[in-house]
Amino acid sequence: MQRVLVAETLDQEGIDLLKRHFDVDTRERTPEEELKAIISQYDGLMIKTYTRVSKAVIDRASKLKIVARAGTGLEKVDVEYAETKGITVRNTPEANVVSVGEMVFALMFGVARKIVLADGYVRRQAGWERDRFIGTELTGKTLGIIGLGHIGQRVAKAARGFEMRLLGFDPFVEGGDMAEYGVEKVDCLEDLLSASDLITVHIPLMDSTYHLIGEPQIGLMKKTAIFVNTSRGPVVDQKALLRALKEGKIGGAGLDVFEKEPPDDKELLGLENIVVTPHIGAATREALRKMTVQAAEIIIEKLMR
Ligand code: NAD
Repeated sequence: MQRVLVAETLDQEGIDLLKRHFDVDTRERTPEEELKAIISQYDGLMIKTYTRVSKAVIDRASKLKIVARAGTGLEKVDVEYAETKGITVRNTPEANVVSVGEMVFALMFGVARKIVLADGYVRRQAGWERDRFIGTELTGKTLGIIGLGHIGQRVAKAARGFEMRLLGFDPFVEGGDMAEYGVEKVDCLEDLLSASDLITVHIPLMDSTYHLIGEPQIGLMKKTAIFVNTSRGPVVDQKALLRALKEGKIGGAGLDVFEKEPPDDKELLGLENIVVTPHIGAATREALRKMTVQAAEIIIEKLMR
């Protein structure tokens, strides 16, 4: 019987699916050294957040045919090298689209309505000065969406419920396709930045997107703009963002991702006009289930073919 390693804690439903076809070993975490020592026994590998599939691991993976990443980012897998060795690497980009899309609204509302500050105020029994928490509505505002892939499209769909005007910047998506989700395509990022009340980023981290949002781009945003990043930390120059937030050059930010995770920038974390979360955009029961089931299906398809 073929053997599959589930290298970190994943949803049971996907594991049960694998068990119908394979001899399955599960581990809570598998550090690289351990993975190197055991990988030669396995035909399939399922990973999520922590497992590093480096060249050294791949060199020892004599039977391995498939690596399935439950989730999106493949930063921890040497995909090119794996493919030269005949190992297929796949992810499940659609499984967490709804969860991340909803998280964008949680962060936008969190900042716009000062939810975290207000929550602390009530808990501390600090008073009842409701004027301290005057916020802004989302309805009718202009939302700039950078990256109109899976998640960007989902955000656009949900935003229509709030009657928002939607601007989209994505050089790889046609204006006609954006129009289908009610998005007006803008050809120049600068135009989106200066026209939007809220800005949300949904692009992959690549050499070409590193610090795509830097000092000059932040400088174009409205003084009241709310900026949300649920994509990858390094697409934003975090120091430039900190300066803009500190100096009141933009209204606020909702950040699920950081240049360094966990973040340790005390100045940033001390700001009142941000809401921060520990990269939990996809952390819902539904997304975790979908990710694992889809990753299991990928492994089954590959190994049973
Ligand atoms: P996707 O690949 O479906 O879409 C990305 C889009 O970005 C594509 O349409 C592409 O054309 C566009 N793009 C690429 N370069 C661009 C550029 N320079 N300017 C504008 N657009 C550009 O990806 P997705 O599934 O929508 O994911 C988006 C981001 O969200 C990724 O960075 C992913 O890693 C991240 N993500 C985060 C979480 C989380 O927990 N916070 C969960 C899942 C995904």
